[in-house]
Amino acid sequence: MLMQKERELIVEFGKKMSNAGLCPGTSGNLSILDRQSGYMAISPSGIDYFETTPTDIVILDLGTNVIDGCRKPSSEASLHAEFYKKKPNISAVVHTHSIYCTAFAVLNMPLKAVHFAIGSACAPEVPCAPYCLFGSNELAHTAPEYCKDSNAVLLANHGIVCCGTDISSAFSLAENMEYVAKLQYLAMSVGTPQLISDSEIVKVLERFKSYGQ
Ligand code: 13P
Ligand code: ZN
Repeated sequence: MLMQKERELIVEFGKKMSNAGLCPGTSGNLSILDRQSGYMAISPSGIDYFETTPTDIVILDLGTNVIDGCRKPSSEASLHAEFYKKKPNISAVVHTHSIYCTAFAVLNMPLKAVHFAIGSACAPEVPCAPYCLFGSNELAHTAPEYCKDSNAVLLANHGIVCCGTDISSAFSLAENMEYVAKLQYLAMSVGTPQLISDSEIVKVLERFKSYGQ
């Protein structure tokens, strides 16, 4: 089966997303790109994460033509493809409707430097792209524009997109951004959060370059 390993990872991380409470119902989607072939493996549209098997995963090229698979691909396939075209260093995209990120997306308010974990997005703040219909070409083209150098972007009245060099880093970023959003929400509910200064955030971003193994 074409992209067997990637298909298995999509199934595994779909369950993780669901277990982490990041994607209520069948919301959200995830993909992995093989830069050599230019093919991406993406979750199918509207199938429960715990019922999805590797054969349900759809293989597309970046023009969203189906290369392999009998399921309808995620309605956000173009959104994923546009991120891969715009960001040459990424190979995985995770899109969720996680509640605290989406609350700020409803407010059209970026995620701020309330905690150094914002640095895992490689940017001092996570911007919010304007509202566009889900699954639309307009959304697919607008969101990567607003993302700029960040590896994450909020989608107004919708959710968040997180990018990574592999699926575990994209998933981990989705978890981290939900943590930052929750913290920002809690802090704002009792006062005015004191943000990490620009000069300190530069150091955080530098430190993240060598974080982990
Ligand atoms: P799919 O089930 O088609 O991937 O759609 C879920 C979603 O989050 C749309 O934005
Ligand atoms: Zn969505």
